[in-house]
Amino acid sequence: MARIVQKFGGTSVADIDRIRAVAERVKKTVDDGNQVAVVVSAMSGTTNQLVEWARDISPMHDAREYDVVVSAGEQITVGLMAMALQNIGVDARSWLGWQIPMITDDEHGRARIMDLQADEIIRRFDGGQVAVMAGFQGIGSDNRITTLGRGGSDTSAVALAAAINADRCDIFTDVDGIYTGDPRIVNRGKKLDRITYEEMLEMASLGAKVLQTRSVELAMNHRVRLQVASSFVDAPGTMVVDEEEIMEKEIVSGIAHSGNEAKITLVKVPDNPGIAASIFGPLADASIVVDMIVQNVSEDGKATDLTFTVPKDDLDRALQVIEDGKEELGFERVEGDPDVVKISVVGVGMRSHAGVAMRMFQALADKGINIQVISTSEIKISVLVSEAYTELALRSLHTAYGLDSV
Ligand code: ASP
Ligand code: MG
Repeated sequence: MARIVQKFGGTSVADIDRIRAVAERVKKTVDDGNQVAVVVSAMSGTTNQLVEWARDISPMHDAREYDVVVSAGEQITVGLMAMALQNIGVDARSWLGWQIPMITDDEHGRARIMDLQADEIIRRFDGGQVAVMAGFQGIGSDNRITTLGRGGSDTSAVALAAAINADRCDIFTDVDGIYTGDPRIVNRGKKLDRITYEEMLEMASLGAKVLQTRSVELAMNHRVRLQVASSFVDAPGTMVVDEEEIMEKEIVSGIAHSGNEAKITLVKVPDNPGIAASIFGPLADASIVVDMIVQNVSEDGKATDLTFTVPKDDLDRALQVIEDGKEELGFERVEGDPDVVKISVVGVGMRSHAGVAMRMFQALADKGINIQVISTSEIKISVLVSEAYTELALRSLHTAYGLDSV
Protein backbone atom coordinates (compact mmCIF):
# COMPACT_ATOMS: atom_id res chain seq x y z
CA MET A 1 0.00 0.00 0.00
CA ALA A 2 1.24 3.44 -0.86
CA ARG A 3 0.13 6.96 -0.10
CA ILE A 4 -0.35 8.94 -3.29
CA VAL A 5 -1.34 12.50 -4.19
CA GLN A 6 -2.99 12.86 -7.59
CA LYS A 7 -3.26 16.36 -8.99
CA PHE A 8 -5.48 17.14 -11.97
CA GLY A 9 -5.10 20.40 -13.87
CA GLY A 10 -7.75 22.47 -15.61
CA THR A 11 -7.92 20.53 -18.87
CA SER A 12 -8.30 17.26 -16.95
CA VAL A 13 -11.43 18.56 -15.19
CA ALA A 14 -12.67 20.72 -18.07
CA ASP A 15 -16.21 19.34 -18.10
CA ILE A 16 -18.46 16.85 -16.32
CA ASP A 17 -17.42 13.90 -18.48
CA ARG A 18 -13.77 14.51 -17.74
CA ILE A 19 -14.47 14.86 -14.04
CA ARG A 20 -16.20 11.46 -14.18
CA ALA A 21 -13.22 9.98 -16.02
CA VAL A 22 -10.83 11.37 -13.41
CA ALA A 23 -13.01 9.89 -10.65
CA GLU A 24 -12.69 6.48 -12.32
CA ARG A 25 -8.93 6.81 -12.38
CA VAL A 26 -8.86 7.76 -8.70
CA LYS A 27 -11.11 4.79 -7.90
CA LYS A 28 -8.68 2.47 -9.64
CA THR A 29 -5.83 3.76 -7.51
CA VAL A 30 -7.96 3.31 -4.37
CA ASP A 31 -9.00 -0.21 -5.43
CA ASP A 32 -5.33 -1.09 -5.86
CA GLY A 33 -5.08 -0.57 -2.11
CA ASN A 34 -3.58 2.91 -1.95
CA GLN A 35 -4.40 5.88 0.25
CA VAL A 36 -5.25 8.73 -2.09
CA ALA A 37 -5.51 12.49 -1.82
CA VAL A 38 -6.71 14.36 -4.90
CA VAL A 39 -5.87 17.99 -5.69
CA VAL A 40 -7.78 19.79 -8.42
CA SER A 41 -7.52 23.05 -10.33
CA ALA A 42 -10.46 25.04 -11.63
CA MET A 43 -12.08 23.88 -14.88
CA SER A 44 -9.94 25.19 -17.74
CA GLY A 45 -10.69 28.79 -18.63
CA THR A 46 -12.51 29.47 -15.36
CA THR A 47 -9.68 31.22 -13.54
CA ASN A 48 -8.97 33.39 -16.58
CA GLN A 49 -12.59 34.44 -16.62
CA LEU A 50 -12.55 35.25 -12.90
CA VAL A 51 -9.36 37.30 -13.27
CA GLU A 52 -10.93 39.20 -16.14
CA TRP A 53 -14.03 40.02 -14.11
CA ALA A 54 -11.94 41.23 -11.19
CA ARG A 55 -9.90 43.49 -13.48
CA ASP A 56 -13.01 44.70 -15.24
CA ILE A 57 -14.84 45.80 -12.16
CA SER A 58 -11.81 47.48 -10.69
CA PRO A 59 -8.38 47.74 -12.30
CA MET A 60 -6.85 48.80 -8.97
CA HIS A 61 -8.66 46.13 -7.00
CA ASP A 62 -8.21 45.15 -3.37
CA ALA A 63 -5.92 42.11 -3.59
CA ARG A 64 -7.80 40.41 -0.74
CA GLU A 65 -11.05 40.57 -2.67
CA TYR A 66 -9.24 39.47 -5.85
CA ASP A 67 -8.31 36.27 -4.03
CA VAL A 68 -11.92 35.70 -2.92
CA VAL A 69 -12.97 35.86 -6.57
CA VAL A 70 -10.20 33.94 -8.34
CA SER A 71 -10.08 31.10 -5.79
CA ALA A 72 -13.74 30.31 -6.52
CA GLY A 73 -13.11 28.01 -9.49
CA GLU A 74 -11.45 25.38 -7.32
CA GLN A 75 -14.39 25.36 -4.89
CA ILE A 76 -16.60 24.12 -7.73
CA THR A 77 -14.28 21.35 -8.88
CA VAL A 78 -13.59 19.89 -5.42
CA GLY A 79 -17.31 19.58 -4.76
CA LEU A 80 -18.02 18.02 -8.15
CA MET A 81 -15.08 15.65 -7.82
CA ALA A 82 -16.20 14.47 -4.37
CA MET A 83 -19.70 13.86 -5.74
CA ALA A 84 -18.38 11.97 -8.77
CA LEU A 85 -16.33 9.74 -6.46
CA GLN A 86 -19.29 9.12 -4.14
CA ASN A 87 -21.41 8.20 -7.17
CA ILE A 88 -19.10 5.31 -7.97
CA GLY A 89 -18.91 4.11 -4.41
CA VAL A 90 -15.74 5.84 -3.22
CA ASP A 91 -15.91 7.55 0.17
CA ALA A 92 -14.66 11.09 -0.46
CA ARG A 93 -14.93 14.60 0.92
CA SER A 94 -13.84 18.00 -0.31
CA TRP A 95 -11.42 20.30 1.50
CA LEU A 96 -11.07 24.01 0.82
CA GLY A 97 -7.75 25.65 1.68
CA TRP A 98 -9.02 27.21 4.92
CA GLN A 99 -10.61 23.96 6.09
CA ILE A 100 -7.35 22.01 6.06
CA PRO A 101 -5.90 24.60 6.90
CA MET A 102 -3.33 25.47 4.26
CA ILE A 103 -1.71 28.41 6.03
CA THR A 104 0.07 31.01 3.92
CA ASP A 105 1.58 34.44 4.37
CA ASP A 106 -0.51 37.52 3.55
CA GLU A 107 0.90 38.24 0.09
CA HIS A 108 -2.43 38.11 -1.68
CA GLY A 109 -2.28 36.87 -5.26
CA ARG A 110 1.14 35.26 -4.76
CA ALA A 111 1.08 33.86 -1.26
CA ARG A 112 3.67 31.42 0.01
CA ILE A 113 2.75 28.35 2.01
CA MET A 114 3.82 28.49 5.66
CA ASP A 115 2.22 25.37 7.09
CA LEU A 116 -0.19 22.61 6.19
CA GLN A 117 -1.88 20.61 8.93
CA ALA A 118 -2.85 17.28 7.47
CA ASP A 119 -3.57 15.26 10.62
CA GLU A 120 -7.29 15.01 9.96
CA ILE A 121 -6.73 13.89 6.36
CA ILE A 122 -4.34 11.17 7.51
CA ARG A 123 -6.78 10.06 10.21
CA ARG A 124 -9.51 9.68 7.59
CA PHE A 125 -7.22 7.68 5.28
CA ASP A 126 -7.38 4.92 7.86
CA GLY A 127 -11.15 4.83 7.45
CA GLY A 128 -10.71 4.58 3.68
CA GLN A 129 -11.70 8.13 2.81
CA VAL A 130 -10.28 10.03 -0.18
CA ALA A 131 -9.45 13.69 0.45
CA VAL A 132 -10.23 16.06 -2.40
CA MET A 133 -8.35 19.30 -1.82
CA ALA A 134 -8.77 22.59 -3.67
CA GLY A 135 -5.50 23.65 -5.28
CA PHE A 136 -4.29 27.24 -5.57
CA GLN A 137 -5.90 28.53 -2.35
CA GLY A 138 -4.95 28.96 1.29
CA ILE A 139 -5.66 31.15 4.28
CA GLY A 140 -3.50 34.03 5.48
CA SER A 141 -2.71 35.07 9.04
CA ASP A 142 -5.26 37.82 8.51
CA ASN A 143 -7.82 34.99 8.33
CA ARG A 144 -8.60 35.75 4.69
CA ILE A 145 -8.48 33.61 1.56
CA THR A 146 -5.19 33.75 -0.32
CA THR A 147 -4.05 32.35 -3.68
CA LEU A 148 -0.62 31.04 -4.62
CA GLY A 149 -0.16 32.68 -8.03
CA ARG A 150 -1.21 31.36 -11.43
CA GLY A 151 -0.53 27.68 -11.89
CA GLY A 152 -0.37 27.35 -8.10
CA SER A 153 -2.23 24.03 -7.84
CA ASP A 154 1.00 22.18 -8.63
CA THR A 155 2.51 23.76 -5.56
CA SER A 156 -0.57 22.90 -3.46
CA ALA A 157 -0.25 19.26 -4.49
CA VAL A 158 3.45 19.06 -3.63
CA ALA A 159 2.84 20.77 -0.27
CA LEU A 160 0.13 18.23 0.54
CA ALA A 161 2.36 15.35 -0.54
CA ALA A 162 5.12 16.62 1.75
CA ALA A 163 2.70 17.07 4.67
CA ILE A 164 1.22 13.57 4.46
CA ASN A 165 4.58 12.03 3.61
CA ALA A 166 3.29 10.66 0.32
CA ASP A 167 5.24 8.05 -1.61
CA ARG A 168 4.53 9.91 -4.83
CA CYS A 169 2.84 13.01 -6.17
CA ASP A 170 1.34 12.52 -9.62
CA ILE A 171 0.71 15.66 -11.66
CA PHE A 172 -1.81 14.78 -14.36
CA THR A 173 -1.89 17.21 -17.23
CA ASP A 174 -2.46 17.40 -20.98
CA VAL A 175 1.06 16.26 -21.90
CA ASP A 176 2.33 12.79 -21.14
CA GLY A 177 5.66 13.80 -19.62
CA ILE A 178 8.76 15.94 -19.94
CA TYR A 179 10.41 15.92 -23.35
CA THR A 180 13.98 16.46 -24.44
CA GLY A 181 12.70 19.36 -26.56
CA ASP A 182 9.41 21.21 -26.93
CA PRO A 183 7.23 18.67 -28.83
CA ARG A 184 5.53 21.48 -30.76
CA ILE A 185 8.86 22.38 -32.36
CA VAL A 186 11.20 19.41 -32.06
CA ASN A 187 9.34 16.56 -33.71
CA ARG A 188 11.94 13.94 -32.88
CA GLY A 189 11.93 14.68 -29.17
CA LYS A 190 11.86 11.86 -26.67
CA LYS A 191 9.89 11.55 -23.49
CA LEU A 192 12.22 11.27 -20.52
CA ASP A 193 11.62 8.43 -18.04
CA ARG A 194 13.39 10.35 -15.33
CA ILE A 195 14.77 13.79 -14.74
CA THR A 196 16.45 15.26 -11.65
CA TYR A 197 14.87 18.01 -9.54
CA GLU A 198 17.65 20.38 -10.49
CA GLU A 199 17.19 19.79 -14.20
CA MET A 200 13.43 20.15 -13.91
CA LEU A 201 13.88 23.37 -11.97
CA GLU A 202 16.09 24.78 -14.71
CA MET A 203 13.71 23.57 -17.42
CA ALA A 204 10.68 25.07 -15.64
CA SER A 205 12.30 28.45 -15.09
CA LEU A 206 13.80 28.45 -18.59
CA GLY A 207 10.44 28.24 -20.29
CA ALA A 208 9.11 24.65 -20.10
CA LYS A 209 5.66 25.42 -18.75
CA VAL A 210 4.59 21.98 -17.54
CA LEU A 211 5.09 22.64 -13.81
CA GLN A 212 5.00 25.79 -11.73
CA THR A 213 8.65 26.47 -10.85
CA ARG A 214 7.83 26.84 -7.17
CA SER A 215 6.33 23.36 -7.04
CA VAL A 216 9.61 21.87 -8.25
CA GLU A 217 11.54 23.87 -5.66
CA LEU A 218 9.23 22.60 -2.94
CA ALA A 219 9.46 19.01 -4.17
CA MET A 220 13.25 19.23 -4.21
CA ASN A 221 13.42 20.65 -0.68
CA HIS A 222 11.10 18.00 0.74
CA ARG A 223 12.27 15.15 -1.48
CA VAL A 224 8.77 14.58 -2.86
CA ARG A 225 8.91 12.16 -5.80
CA LEU A 226 6.94 13.76 -8.62
CA GLN A 227 5.46 12.17 -11.70
CA VAL A 228 4.24 14.20 -14.67
CA ALA A 229 1.75 12.15 -16.67
CA SER A 230 -1.23 12.51 -18.99
CA SER A 231 -4.72 12.31 -17.55
CA PHE A 232 -5.96 11.09 -20.94
CA VAL A 233 -3.81 8.01 -21.45
CA ASP A 234 -2.96 5.33 -18.96
CA ALA A 235 0.84 5.21 -19.28
CA PRO A 236 3.80 6.08 -17.07
CA GLY A 237 4.96 9.67 -17.43
CA THR A 238 8.24 11.28 -16.38
CA MET A 239 9.50 10.88 -12.82
CA VAL A 240 11.18 13.90 -11.26
CA VAL A 241 13.53 12.51 -8.66
CA ASP A 242 16.70 12.89 -6.69
CA GLU A 243 19.97 12.60 -8.61
CA GLU A 244 20.89 9.48 -6.61
CA GLU A 245 17.99 7.63 -8.18
CA ILE A 246 19.44 8.04 -11.66
CA MET A 247 22.33 5.73 -12.43
CA GLU A 248 23.39 6.77 -15.92
CA LYS A 249 23.18 10.51 -16.09
CA GLU A 250 22.67 12.07 -19.47
CA ILE A 251 25.10 14.84 -20.26
CA VAL A 252 22.24 16.87 -21.67
CA SER A 253 18.70 15.95 -20.67
CA GLY A 254 16.80 18.62 -22.49
CA ILE A 255 16.71 21.85 -24.41
CA ALA A 256 14.46 24.66 -23.27
CA HIS A 257 13.63 28.00 -24.79
CA SER A 258 12.04 31.20 -23.63
CA GLY A 259 10.81 34.01 -25.84
CA ASN A 260 10.09 36.10 -22.82
CA GLU A 261 13.39 38.00 -22.95
CA ALA A 262 14.43 41.33 -24.38
CA LYS A 263 17.96 42.59 -24.86
CA ILE A 264 19.30 45.98 -23.83
CA THR A 265 22.69 47.32 -24.91
CA LEU A 266 24.36 50.38 -23.49
CA VAL A 267 26.91 51.63 -25.97
CA LYS A 268 30.15 53.23 -24.75
CA VAL A 269 29.67 53.07 -21.01
CA PRO A 270 32.56 54.65 -19.08
CA ASP A 271 34.70 51.82 -17.66
CA ASN A 272 34.71 53.09 -14.06
CA PRO A 273 34.33 51.27 -10.75
CA GLY A 274 30.73 51.36 -9.56
CA ILE A 275 29.19 51.73 -13.00
CA ALA A 276 27.44 48.34 -12.91
CA ALA A 277 25.95 49.18 -9.53
CA SER A 278 24.62 52.48 -10.79
CA ILE A 279 22.96 50.79 -13.78
CA PHE A 280 21.48 47.75 -12.07
CA GLY A 281 20.56 49.48 -8.81
CA PRO A 282 17.80 51.63 -10.32
CA LEU A 283 16.51 48.63 -12.33
CA ALA A 284 16.23 46.59 -9.13
CA ASP A 285 14.47 49.50 -7.43
CA ALA A 286 11.94 49.39 -10.27
CA SER A 287 11.48 45.62 -9.60
CA ILE A 288 12.92 44.73 -13.00
CA VAL A 289 14.68 41.38 -12.96
CA VAL A 290 17.90 41.30 -14.97
CA ASP A 291 18.92 37.89 -16.27
CA MET A 292 21.92 37.50 -18.59
CA ILE A 293 24.70 40.11 -18.47
CA VAL A 294 27.84 40.61 -20.57
CA GLN A 295 30.37 43.32 -20.21
CA ASN A 296 33.71 43.44 -21.89
CA VAL A 297 36.92 44.95 -20.59
CA SER A 298 37.54 48.11 -22.53
CA GLU A 299 40.61 48.16 -24.70
CA ASP A 300 41.61 51.68 -23.84
CA GLY A 301 40.38 51.63 -20.21
CA LYS A 302 37.82 54.26 -21.07
CA ALA A 303 34.57 52.91 -22.48
CA THR A 304 32.92 49.58 -23.18
CA ASP A 305 29.53 48.15 -24.19
CA LEU A 306 27.24 46.49 -21.69
CA THR A 307 24.49 44.08 -22.72
CA PHE A 308 21.87 42.39 -20.56
CA THR A 309 18.37 40.94 -20.73
CA VAL A 310 15.12 41.79 -18.96
CA PRO A 311 11.61 40.31 -19.24
CA LYS A 312 10.00 41.41 -22.49
CA ASP A 313 7.09 43.04 -20.68
CA ASP A 314 9.52 45.24 -18.77
CA LEU A 315 11.55 46.43 -21.77
CA ASP A 316 9.94 49.85 -22.13
CA ARG A 317 10.10 50.53 -18.44
CA ALA A 318 13.74 49.43 -18.26
CA LEU A 319 14.71 51.69 -21.18
CA GLN A 320 13.00 54.57 -19.44
CA VAL A 321 14.85 53.94 -16.17
CA ILE A 322 18.15 53.92 -18.06
CA GLU A 323 17.36 57.02 -20.09
CA ASP A 324 16.51 58.80 -16.84
CA GLY A 325 20.00 58.06 -15.56
CA LYS A 326 21.80 58.91 -18.78
CA GLU A 327 23.43 62.07 -17.54
CA GLU A 328 24.87 60.40 -14.47
CA LEU A 329 25.91 57.19 -16.28
CA GLY A 330 27.47 58.97 -19.21
CA PHE A 331 26.96 56.29 -21.88
CA GLU A 332 26.64 57.19 -25.53
CA ARG A 333 23.30 55.55 -26.35
CA VAL A 334 20.99 52.70 -25.37
CA GLU A 335 19.34 50.15 -27.65
CA GLY A 336 16.48 47.76 -26.91
CA ASP A 337 15.73 44.58 -28.87
CA PRO A 338 12.64 42.45 -28.13
CA ASP A 339 13.26 40.02 -31.00
CA VAL A 340 15.47 37.57 -29.16
CA VAL A 341 15.07 34.10 -27.68
CA LYS A 342 16.98 32.41 -24.90
CA ILE A 343 17.91 28.82 -25.65
CA SER A 344 19.32 26.60 -22.93
CA VAL A 345 20.76 23.13 -22.77
CA VAL A 346 20.31 21.50 -19.39
CA GLY A 347 21.89 18.42 -17.85
CA VAL A 348 23.48 17.38 -14.57
CA GLY A 349 26.04 15.30 -16.48
CA MET A 350 27.63 18.57 -17.64
CA ARG A 351 29.34 18.90 -14.29
CA SER A 352 31.68 16.07 -15.12
CA HIS A 353 32.04 16.41 -18.91
CA ALA A 354 34.18 18.77 -20.90
CA GLY A 355 33.22 20.17 -24.27
CA VAL A 356 29.49 20.51 -23.71
CA ALA A 357 29.41 24.23 -24.39
CA MET A 358 31.70 23.81 -27.39
CA ARG A 359 29.23 21.45 -29.00
CA MET A 360 26.47 24.03 -28.60
CA PHE A 361 28.51 26.85 -30.09
CA GLN A 362 29.66 24.68 -32.99
CA ALA A 363 26.12 23.49 -33.80
CA LEU A 364 24.87 27.08 -33.90
CA ALA A 365 27.86 28.25 -35.93
CA ASP A 366 27.28 25.48 -38.48
CA LYS A 367 23.82 26.95 -39.10
CA GLY A 368 25.16 30.50 -39.25
CA ILE A 369 23.32 31.49 -36.06
CA ASN A 370 24.98 34.34 -34.23
CA ILE A 371 25.19 34.12 -30.44
CA GLN A 372 24.52 37.46 -28.81
CA VAL A 373 24.90 36.67 -25.11
CA ILE A 374 26.03 33.58 -23.21
CA SER A 375 25.44 32.62 -19.61
CA THR A 376 26.17 29.41 -17.77
CA SER A 377 25.52 27.67 -14.50
CA GLU A 378 26.77 24.33 -13.26
CA ILE A 379 24.11 22.38 -15.13
CA LYS A 380 23.02 24.67 -17.97
CA ILE A 381 24.32 26.79 -20.81
CA SER A 382 22.08 29.52 -22.17
CA VAL A 383 22.54 31.59 -25.27
CA LEU A 384 20.60 34.51 -26.63
CA VAL A 385 19.96 34.45 -30.36
CA SER A 386 17.68 36.22 -32.80
CA GLU A 387 14.08 35.08 -32.38
CA ALA A 388 13.83 34.20 -36.07
CA TYR A 389 16.19 31.25 -35.44
CA THR A 390 14.16 29.66 -32.64
CA GLU A 391 13.11 26.55 -34.54
CA LEU A 392 16.36 26.04 -36.40
CA ALA A 393 18.43 26.44 -33.24
CA LEU A 394 16.28 24.08 -31.18
CA ARG A 395 16.27 21.34 -33.80
CA SER A 396 19.98 21.65 -34.54
CA LEU A 397 20.91 21.44 -30.88
CA HIS A 398 18.58 18.52 -30.33
CA THR A 399 20.42 16.66 -33.05
CA ALA A 400 23.87 17.81 -31.97
CA TYR A 401 23.42 16.35 -28.47
CA GLY A 402 22.18 13.04 -29.84
CA LEU A 403 18.68 13.50 -28.45
CA ASP A 404 16.73 12.73 -31.63
CA SER A 405 14.62 9.60 -31.49
CA VAL A 406 15.37 7.14 -34.25
N1 ASP B 1 -6.68 27.64 -11.40
C1 ASP B 1 -5.43 28.29 -11.13
C2 ASP B 1 -4.89 28.92 -12.40
O1 ASP B 1 -5.49 28.80 -13.45
C3 ASP B 1 -4.44 27.39 -10.52
C4 ASP B 1 -3.97 26.26 -11.38
O2 ASP B 1 -4.60 25.90 -12.37
O3 ASP B 1 -2.92 25.68 -11.06
O4 ASP B 1 -3.88 29.56 -12.36
MG1 MG C 1 -0.96 24.12 -14.45
